[in-house]
Amino acid sequence: MHSMSESKPAAATAAPTPLTAALQARADASIALLQDAVRQFGKVVYASSLGAEAMVLTDLLWTHVPGVDIVTIDTGRLPDETLALVAQLEARYNRRIQVFFPQAAAVEQYVRLNGINGFYESLSQRQDCCAVRKVEPFNRAVAGYPAWITGVRREQSAARATNQPLQLDPRNGMHKVSPLLDWTEAQIWEYIRARQLPYNPLHDRGYPSIGCAPCTRAIQPGEDHRAGRWWWEQAATRECGLQPRQPTGQHGSASGIS
Ligand code: SF4
Repeated sequence: MHSMSESKPAAATAAPTPLTAALQARADASIALLQDAVRQFGKVVYASSLGAEAMVLTDLLWTHVPGVDIVTIDTGRLPDETLALVAQLEARYNRRIQVFFPQAAAVEQYVRLNGINGFYESLSQRQDCCAVRKVEPFNRAVAGYPAWITGVRREQSAARATNQPLQLDPRNGMHKVSPLLDWTEAQIWEYIRARQLPYNPLHDRGYPSIGCAPCTRAIQPGEDHRAGRWWWEQAATRECGLQPRQPTGQHGSASGIS
């Protein structure tokens, strides 16, 4: 497991600093891939998880590749800190993130059947909640785009180590663009620090992966990166239906909404 304290910004008050040559090269390669994707596919969407990688991608996109749409899902159960981050990003870049919400009638039906916190009671009730609050709005948010951007990084898992920067995602028939594949977590935080980007303050409180408030808790030293997500379930089931669970290693939330 990575150590958040090793690499995240020590303080948000320092002045922005130039990127090191190595990090600038990383950023330039990511920007070139994103620009190529826009040239090739025209309409490209980034479904932001609002995690640390998302701060880097948002900055790269809205500074250098502004034609890409950024969307996110407000499940109705997000932490206040995550919603505040949306506002901070919009203020910094003077642009709107397109926020998609669950269908009200579907949420009402789920709550009538299962109770307001029915997701704690069984795996199927939890997965039904994620289907209503996350998967359906996510599918609606990316519909019609031939390509989508993810924030996955190779070091997050053995499975992701074999990913390609541009590949067809067989699950949804969309091309998947992964500009951060070769970034390390330390580089993600180095970039955030150098550029003075906003980020979710929950990262400073033991939450490397942040989802809905009732389904996320802080992790303990030595625990898996995703151990705080749906912590009451067996590790193999802890997924929301948008990303396949990786069998080993870290599993960040950067690949999209999670
Ligand atoms: S993470 Fe929890 S609250 Fe959020 S959609 Fe899934 S089950 Fe529902």
